[in-house]
Amino acid sequence: MRPVAIKQTSADSLRITWDDNHVSSYMFKLLRDECPCAECKGETVLLHTYKPQALAQLPGHYELKSLQQVGSYAIQITWGDGHATGLYSWQYLRDLCRCSECDEKNKFQP
Ligand SMILES: [Zn+2]
Ligand SMILES: [Zn+2]
Repeated sequence: MRPVAIKQTSADSLRITWDDNHVSSYMFKLLRDECPCAECKGETVLLHTYKPQALAQLPGHYELKSLQQVGSYAIQITWGDGHATGLYSWQYLRDLCRCSECDEKNKFQP
């Protein structure tokens, strides 16, 4: 599964069209809050997850500055505050989809 199109649709959201015709919309806020990098998500060492300390938000925290494809498996987002260590893999992005269809599916997962 991979995107066929990634498009900024408004000042604060992004739309991804997938190769199975699924369309996902993402608010920048969601993407930033779910940044998968170790700094934001914490690191799991020997089954213990170390949560990072909440950092003060700088201006531009939820501002998408640029977006770059990494290889054929992910995108890297550079945020307005300079944060750019998160790699969003296709699978991760698809899991973040909050459309009603995906929501239904998630509900029935154990
Ligand atoms: Zn991060
Ligand atoms: Zn969806």
